[in-house]
Amino acid sequence: MAGIGDDCAVLRLPPNHEALVTTDFTLEGIHFRRDWHSPECVGHRCLTRGLSDIAAMGGEPVAAFLSLALPRKLPQAWLNRFVDGLLNLAKRHGVTLAGGDTAESPNGILADIVVLGSVPKGKAILRSGAKPGDRIYVSGELGGSATAVKRMQEKPKRRLSARDYRRHFFPEPRLELGRILRERGLASAMIDTSDGLSTDLDHICKESGVGAEIKAELVPRAVVGRPARQVEMRLALHGGEDYELLFTVPRGKRIPAQIAGISLTQIGAITRGKRVFSMSGDVGYELQPKGWEHFTS
Ligand SMILES: [Mg+2]
Repeated sequence: MAGIGDDCAVLRLPPNHEALVTTDFTLEGIHFRRDWHSPECVGHRCLTRGLSDIAAMGGEPVAAFLSLALPRKLPQAWLNRFVDGLLNLAKRHGVTLAGGDTAESPNGILADIVVLGSVPKGKAILRSGAKPGDRIYVSGELGGSATAVKRMQEKPKRRLSARDYRRHFFPEPRLELGRILRERGLASAMIDTSDGLSTDLDHICKESGVGAEIKAELVPRAVVGRPARQVEMRLALHGGEDYELLFTVPRGKRIPAQIAGISLTQIGAITRGKRVFSMSGDVGYELQPKGWEHFTS
């Protein structure tokens, strides 16, 4: 594989595989703030956005391309630490940084990451495969990332510890889990929870032409902070950027309590309707997709 140094990257996919391509912006003031997020954290989260999309298709990452627009006055140390954070995660997942571009930004840092992945032909797990009767599962815990954002918004001067809010500052893309679900044929549809459970479940339902019924009390709520506390239900249902996997399971397939060390929780089932309901006992309400609004609220 030829990487940086030529006019184009030359990449080879394994035989009988298809390419997966995803692209994501990371923008200062929208996805991070320099006074809240360390450069390493920004680099890590930038690549996580792309890797998590590859995980959601059941794919394996191959290479990443990074284009940056940087303010003229940005200290070189910030950039070095950003790249360290990104490369550290790339190395752990065997991803090559195979190219990119840099330019001067008139205002704030902009990073655009493109990740190329591969998946055996015809085996990518799509959003459109959910069928009535399929069970709905989510990996890990939800709401941890949004809770960190809420705490910082409440007290903008406060620095949160990355250790107490790991899912926000250094989220792990669920690549191994996604690959195993694909290999074992366990998921009929899948998405990563980048926008929040209510919005991401709505994406699966729309693409699959189905509805869903979840039990709010089953949704695994993250335990974060110091002292550690369970996050609010609202943030577990609607908060984004947890980068967990949300997937549907066909009848007859059994899901273990954990795969690759990640807990898996059934939160509901796919229905024939077109709408998504959240049930509490016999009482339900329609779960409106209240997606992620980043730091704009
Ligand atoms: Mg995604």
